[in-house]
Amino acid sequence: MSEAHLPSTGSVEVVGPDAAAGLVEQVARDTEQEARVEQLLIVLDIDGTVILEDESLSPGVVDAVEHARRSGHEVMIATGRSWEGTHGILDALAISPDYVVCSNGAVVLKRMDEDGQQYDRWHVETFDPTEVLTLLLEHLPDARYLVELPDGRRLFTEHLDDWNLINALQVPFAELSAQRVCRVVVVAPEQGEQDFVDLVDRIGLTQVTYAVGWTAWLDIAPQGVDKSTSLELVRTELGIDPAQVMVIGDGRNDLGMFRWALENGGRAVAMEQGPQEVRDAAGEVTASVEAGGVAAVLRAL
Ligand SMILES: [Mg+2]
Repeated sequence: MSEAHLPSTGSVEVVGPDAAAGLVEQVARDTEQEARVEQLLIVLDIDGTVILEDESLSPGVVDAVEHARRSGHEVMIATGRSWEGTHGILDALAISPDYVVCSNGAVVLKRMDEDGQQYDRWHVETFDPTEVLTLLLEHLPDARYLVELPDGRRLFTEHLDDWNLINALQVPFAELSAQRVCRVVVVAPEQGEQDFVDLVDRIGLTQVTYAVGWTAWLDIAPQGVDKSTSLELVRTELGIDPAQVMVIGDGRNDLGMFRWALENGGRAVAMEQGPQEVRDAAGEVTASVEAGGVAAVLRAL
């Protein structure tokens, strides 16, 4: 076959070693920049999102988180839990993110070392709980109460199996409002979820932010504070574009971060087993926590 029948292969330009090194560097820089632009801030709720009610992990979540991190994404937690109940979940997920949002946004912890052994309280919001505690006691005399103090200590009135009470101190009710707090948690087992929603509507909790969870759990935060307010601080600190945010959650305490993500052009994903209003507020719905909903979303990135 003569050369005239072959397609043109273009020309090859030979450059010297210095120029070649320069080209390689340029390609590396371009690739890096591309990776930075696409880096997502992935925010996971804990209960009902990465773990089931019995504290077991959602199927495939650990591997999927690892996959997301390998792809260059920042994976962090935003939970209603106190830090006391959160750090074990970081271990279970094998992550040590720069920041962790706890107590529904009232507390942000910052990682202080390389391996994630030390986290300090970096941002803390507080409020005077006197009024809300007085109101609630009037309507729910048999409820159990817990408050979290700015330094992380927790005070509670009565034991509850659902609460992790390590390092918590039992006190008389009056002592709960002796100082400013980050949060108030109220559990009234005899109340249904809807009873709780109706009650907070009726008594008008206006000076606080609240969320009703499953199993008649009322979580009260300082006014205007929710997961989104703290996440915005973290996002700014990390320098991640607002549109590069993806949040995943299942509860009413995730509504604020859903709105925040969607308003900025990011993604908000609800778990299938969550309440209707939560699924409606999200931009998309994934499988339930039992069916590995988080893994499905992260695997698809
Ligand atoms: Mg949840």
